[in-house]
Amino acid sequence: MDNIDLKKDLRSLSLEELGALINSLGEKSFRAKQIYEWLHVKLVSAYDEMKNIPSALKERLKEDYELNALEIVRVLKDEEDGTCKFLFKTADNNVIESVLMRYEHGNSVCISSQVGCRMGCKFCASTIGGKIRDLTAGEMLDQIYEIQKYDGQRVANVVVMGTGEPFDNFEAFVRFYEMITDKSGLNISGRNITVSTCGIVEKIKELADLQYAMTLAISLHAPNDELRRQTMPIANKYKISEILEACDYFFEKTGRRVTFEYSLIAGVNDSKACADELSGLLKSRNCHVNLIPVNPVKERDYRRSDNREIMAFKKLLEKNGINATIRRGMGKNIDAACGQLRRSYITGDV
Ligand code: SAH
Repeated sequence: MDNIDLKKDLRSLSLEELGALINSLGEKSFRAKQIYEWLHVKLVSAYDEMKNIPSALKERLKEDYELNALEIVRVLKDEEDGTCKFLFKTADNNVIESVLMRYEHGNSVCISSQVGCRMGCKFCASTIGGKIRDLTAGEMLDQIYEIQKYDGQRVANVVVMGTGEPFDNFEAFVRFYEMITDKSGLNISGRNITVSTCGIVEKIKELADLQYAMTLAISLHAPNDELRRQTMPIANKYKISEILEACDYFFEKTGRRVTFEYSLIAGVNDSKACADELSGLLKSRNCHVNLIPVNPVKERDYRRSDNREIMAFKKLLEKNGINATIRRGMGKNIDAACGQLRRSYITGDV
């Protein structure tokens, strides 16, 4: 399926680009600021909601530009921890999912960057049907906007860890980052934004060069290339050593400590030997390891490691001076693992 043309997506235009568009239509420049505010502060979903914009201008814009607003088709709430999973329909009738998590330090939203994913990680539900298309920057923003409107509370943190590989849609991701941190928009601090990648080396370096104050998370999931290749096809393209070198460059450029995600799969990558080998890789690095007990996906037969093994793995890393945490399983009652709700929806289970 074709991507939605960025040029036709009004919400994906920066304030500057919107200004140029408004000028080209012979309208006064303050209209650009007003429209930008409707879209990115007041978070409207339709042209008709932009009250102080002349109808003629709205009609003219509508001819070439869509708002491509997302529509909520389902919300599942975990009554235990308040986590909400949102299933959205895009303007071209695709479905994507996002998650709202409530923490003491504020609400956090996990967004998708693509419809489906083509990275093929074996433990991940998002990749089962492949990639359908990239999301636009506007669609990435709108997941946050719609959730903030629905919930009525400010979104404080954003993690780009939903369906999709953000660095396989790098241009839109960078645009998204610029706009979500824009003072004229929701103005979320870069420090409160995390992007997770399976490790596309060139893009890690490009991001480093942009020197954003954001957190980079790398899905490592194995301590050596051979084991990594068993679950992550991308490991055939990039060696762990190349990824780590790019991460060092990111740290050098930004001063931001990198997070390594490690999903523990029983009998696959959770042994003491794996923890030792991982320690060897990361010992000299200023980093953080996030251990994720693997979330079993119906279509795959991976099992999560026992709590005892998870604790032992963490202790071993810590003994080697590596900072490690275990990801709190949020939304366990609502298919909150990457791509699972979308998958259930597509297969007709919810
Ligand atoms: N494509 C990006 C971001 C999306 S996935 C990436 O690869 O990082 C976000 C994180 O969840 C990744 O670390 C991913 O490997 C992990 N993940 C996906 N499915 C999972 C599952 N079933 N159990 C545990 N972690 C999973």
